[in-house]
Order: sequence, then structure tokens, then C-alpha cells
Amino acid sequence: MTQGNVQREGSVFVYSDEMAGFDFGPDHPFKPERAAKTYELCNRYGVIKHPWIKILKPEPIESSLLTLFHDPRYLTLLEKASQGEVLLEMLERGIGKPDNPILPGIFEWSLKGAGGTRAAMDLLMTGEVTIAFNPLGGFHHAGAGRAEGFCYINDIVIAIKDAKTKFPRIRAAYLDLDAHHGNGVQEAFYDDPGVLFISIHETGKTLYPWSGHETETGEGDGKGFTVNIPMEPGADDDVFDLVFDEIVIRLLEAFSPDIIVAELGADALVSDPLTHLKLTNNSTIKAVTEMRRLCPKILALGGGGYDLYRTARCWTLAWSKLNRLEPTDEFAGLVGGMMFGPEMEVGSLYDHPYRSMAEIKEIAMKKAGRVVDYLIKEVFPVHGL
Ligand SMILES: [Zn+2]
Repeated sequence: MTQGNVQREGSVFVYSDEMAGFDFGPDHPFKPERAAKTYELCNRYGVIKHPWIKILKPEPIESSLLTLFHDPRYLTLLEKASQGEVLLEMLERGIGKPDNPILPGIFEWSLKGAGGTRAAMDLLMTGEVTIAFNPLGGFHHAGAGRAEGFCYINDIVIAIKDAKTKFPRIRAAYLDLDAHHGNGVQEAFYDDPGVLFISIHETGKTLYPWSGHETETGEGDGKGFTVNIPMEPGADDDVFDLVFDEIVIRLLEAFSPDIIVAELGADALVSDPLTHLKLTNNSTIKAVTEMRRLCPKILALGGGGYDLYRTARCWTLAWSKLNRLEPTDEFAGLVGGMMFGPEMEVGSLYDHPYRSMAEIKEIAMKKAGRVVDYLIKEVFPVHGL
């Protein structure tokens, strides 16, 4: 397809300079400026200024929606912390721990992140757009009554629950590609067969939040609708291909979702300083392309990603593929084709292939094969497979 006749169904990119400028401090790995770098790259590669693409500035979510997931006492404490108050009770709920510092304005900032995700969901549900991306959302670790893993307000759970309130029959799939298990989202929908939860992540044996074992498959009516795919340290694109082809594609085909909410955390990529997975953005591209093939509506969200450049590159490519556009450097001719910034090390937005060393790979493949066998036996029958 050429850029002239790509889909005209509409897509939305959630972004504001103000939100991307929020600072967690020099020692904190979470850098909202990744969103600014992504936005910059999307502009430079010609994948954002199109008539069907709108930019949405996130506004704070209505506070009445927060209790769709969070408990009121936690919200009160978070709001107080945001205004500079410090109470011992906050620490019991994760507020003020090193991962989740007490930052002035963190409550309001989190409300905007959640507002962006919910507004994007609304546009998808009413049919105004078919593709949305909020690189300032994706806070999958926030629990009902606690902050953890750099997450304070769970924009994902609130947006899905709000959509389910308005459209009770909606079939939503949640696909989490972040290196860390999507524990907060799992907690919210563990007994709900209306949401198919799938998380591919580094095993909880070696990485926070230490959960997401394949044996966690949901409970009650939701049995079989929570799917966890742990991968061993050193897992590369071949391992990802195996679990994605054997499990994710088949389950999505069977479940046939109306919408996929995708957490595109980029911390499973090879250079990420916080995790031990070794994927390249070719895995992300594959996932995004397949999602687009299998489902009419996609709400993509940010998440982890602590190698800023690689994260921005990955998200720019993901956004391009969601819009069925091929990114081309609009300045390449002007500067003699020289690369600068995030794509310098590879000479393009596409990562070079990376393969793990034989011994590490053999273990990762073998373990992935066992997870696949387990899920085929325990989860597939629930979906008629
Ligand atoms: Zn993560």
C-alpha cells in the first residue's frame, strides 16, 4: 500500500509536551521524555502528519472513574502525597518507596495519563478511530490499593472497565508485551471471561513482580481467560516467535476480540538495562502486525522501556505499522543521508537481528516449549481449541 490510499478510518496519537516533560528525577529509570522522542521520530519519519491522524492532548480523567478499580483510601493518600504530605500509611501502599517516589504533582500527572487512555478508548468504542496509541499510558503494575513498579494509577484497567460499563457485551483482549508481568491488570480481570488477558514476559523467577507463572490461568468463570507466558533470561526473537505463533495467535483467533488493548513496554529489547530478555523490535513489529490482522480496533499503550532511544525507535515503528505506513526519513536527503539520534547505531529504525548464544538459547527454547505444551493442555480446551 502506498501512503496515498492507506486506511481512512482514523487514528489518534495521545501526546502533550507538558506530560512528556514530567521528571521522576535523575536517579529514576522511568523517563516520560521517551514519549517526546517518539513523537519527534514519528514526525521526522512522516508517520504522523496525515489527514486521518489526530493528536489528542490528554486531559485529567474524571475522578469518579478512578474507583472503577482503585480503593478510595489509596486515592486519598496518593492525592495527599502529590501535595507534599507524608504519612506512614503511604509507605504501606507503596507510595514513597524508591520505585514510586512521592513527587509533587504525580497524582495530577497520573490522572492525565489515565485520561488519555480513556479518551482514546472512547474514540475507539464510538467508531471515530480504529487505531490509538498513548505512549504516556500503560501503567500495568498499579494495584487496586497500592503503587508499585513506577505505576500509580492503572489507566489500562480503568479504561477497559469503563468501556465494559458502557458496552457490556464488548469482548476485549489485553496483550502485554512488557518484560514485566502485567500483574495489576491480571488482578482486575482474574475472574472475568469478558477480558482475555495475555502477558508475555521474563519469568518471575528472575524479575519483578515475581509473578506471571503459566499456572496462573484465572479463576471461577474467568478460568482459562488469564494466560501467562513466562520466558527465560536470554530469550530472543526466535523464542518470542514460537510462543506468539503457538499460543497468542491461536487464542486471539478463537476469542475474536472487538478490541485489543496492547501494552507495548519496550523493556524486553536487547539493550534494556533493567531486564534480561533479548528481543529486537522485529518481535514488536510482528506482534503489532498480527494484532492489526486479527482485530478491527487496537488501543496501544506505552509501558516500560529504559533504553530511551531503542524505546522511541520501537514505538515509532509500532505506530507506523498500526497505521500501515512505512517510515521514511524526511531529512535524509538534506543531511547527506547521515543518521543522527535514536537510529544512529543501526542506520535505520529497524533493529539488527540478534540471536542469543547456543546454550542460553537452548534452555530458553526448551522452557518455552514446555510453557506452550502446558497452555495447550490447560487453556486451549476452554476456547474450543
Ligand atoms: Zn516493564
